[in-house]
Amino acid sequence: LTEKLHEVFKKLKSKGKLTEEDVNAALKEVRVALLEADVNFKVVKDFVARVRERAVGQEILANLNPAHQVIKIVREELTALMGGQDARLNTAAKPPTVIMMVGLQGSGKTTTAAKLSLFLKKQGRRPLLVAADIYRPAAIKQLQVLGEQIQVPVFSREGDPVAIAVGAVEEAGKKGYDPVIIDTAGRLHINEELMTELERLKAAVKPHEILLVVDAMTGQDAVRVAETFHQRLGLDGVVLTKLDGDTRGGAALSIRAVTGCPIKFAGVGEKLDMLELFHPDRMADRILGMGDILTLIEKAQTTLDAQQAVEMQKRIKSADFNLEDFLTQLRQFKKMGPLEHILSMLPGFGGMKKLREEFQFDERELVWAEAIINSMTPEERRHPEIIDGSRRRRIARGCGLTVQDVNRLLKQFEQTKKLVRQLTSFEKGFKKGAKLG
Ligand code: GDP
Ligand code: MG
Repeated sequence: LTEKLHEVFKKLKSKGKLTEEDVNAALKEVRVALLEADVNFKVVKDFVARVRERAVGQEILANLNPAHQVIKIVREELTALMGGQDARLNTAAKPPTVIMMVGLQGSGKTTTAAKLSLFLKKQGRRPLLVAADIYRPAAIKQLQVLGEQIQVPVFSREGDPVAIAVGAVEEAGKKGYDPVIIDTAGRLHINEELMTELERLKAAVKPHEILLVVDAMTGQDAVRVAETFHQRLGLDGVVLTKLDGDTRGGAALSIRAVTGCPIKFAGVGEKLDMLELFHPDRMADRILGMGDILTLIEKAQTTLDAQQAVEMQKRIKSADFNLEDFLTQLRQFKKMGPLEHILSMLPGFGGMKKLREEFQFDERELVWAEAIINSMTPEERRHPEIIDGSRRRRIARGCGLTVQDVNRLLKQFEQTKKLVRQLTSFEKGFKKGAKLG
C-alpha cells in the first residue's frame, strides 16, 4: 500500500496545478491501492467519496500547493477512519476493573494480556492475570511464565473457565488486585462452542472491557473476526498485534469503520514491553509511508524563522555544524514541542528505535545543554573537536554540572549532527517533488 500511494503522490507532486481530473485520477489509484491492501470494499468507497468531496470543494481555495492539499486531506481522512483520537480503557466505578481478552488462537491474546499487565503496572496498578484457557495445559504454563517475567501474579485453578474467572475476581476483591485480566481460550476459527463459552464468561464476570485481540497480518479476515465477536459479545476495543511485521494497513483501516470499535492498543513485537497505545494519526502516516514528515515540515515552517532555517540548512550542509548551531537548533526544537516527538516524526526514524532511545532529551536537559554550551569558549563551540579532558572538566565546573553531563551533551551533539543531515537530505528530496510553503 505504502509503495502504491507513494507512486500516486509522486505523480501529484510533479504536477504544478491540481485539476478535478487530477483529483479523480489520483483517487482512482488510492482506491485500487486500498483495495489491494485488503481494506473492506465499502470502507474504501466511502473513503474515496469523502476525500473527493473535500478535495474538490477546496479547489477554489487551491493555493500554491495542490498536491500538499490532497495529501493532507487523505491523511486526515485516514486518521478519522481509524477513530481520530486515541482511545482509553474503561475502568470500573468500584474496583476491580475486569478486562477480558478474546480472540482466535495465535492472535496474541496471552502475550497481550501480559503486555497489558505490564503497561498498567507501570501506571501504578496491581494487575491479576487469570488463566482461563484451560484446554491446553501449555497455555496456563505460558501465562505463568510471562507473569513471572513481569512480576504479576497469575490466578489459576482447576475447573471450568467461568468458575475460574469468578474465583479470580473474588480473589482480586479480597487482595486488592486491580485490574483483573482474563486470558481466554481461542480456536483456529470462530465456532459456536467458543462463542457460547465467551458469552457465559461475560455473563458471569460482567467485564468492564472486552478486548478483541487480532493479528494485523490477517487483513480482511481480521475484519470479519472483529465483526462476529462484536455481534456476539459487544466489544469495547481492539488490540492489533504483530504490527511490527510486514503488514498491510488494511485491518486497521477497516476494523474501526466496519465495527465502530476503537483500536486501543498496538502490539509491535514479541517482547513484553512492546505494546503501545494505538495512535490513528501515526497509523495513517505509516500507511502513507512518510513518517510524520508533513506535520514536521508544517510545524517547522510556522515556528522557525524562514531565513534562519535557510541559514541553518546551509550550515548543516557545509559540514561544520557546530555547537552554536546545535544550541540554536535545540532552541527551535524547544519551540516546536517535546524533542522526542519531533524526532519520532523524522522519516525512517521510527525504525531506528535504538537511536531514538538515545535521544531522550527532556525540557530540563535542554536547560542543562544551554548551560553547558554557555560555559564553553566561542572557540570550543565552533570547534567541538578541541574539547579534551581538561576542557571538559573546566566546562563542567563552569556550569555546575558533572563531566558526565558534558560528555553526554557532546555525544548528543554528534548524534544530532548525523540526524539533521538525514533530515536535510530528505527535505531536499521532498521539496524537489512538491514545493511546500
Ligand atoms: P494466543 O493463542 O492468542 O494466546 O496467542 P499468543 O499470545 O500465544 O501469541 C502467539 C504468537 O504471536 C506468539 O509467538 C507471540 O510471541 C506472538 N506475538 C504476539 N503479539 C505479537 C506482536 O505484537 N508482535 C510479534 N512479532 N509477535 C507477537
Ligand atoms: Mg493463549
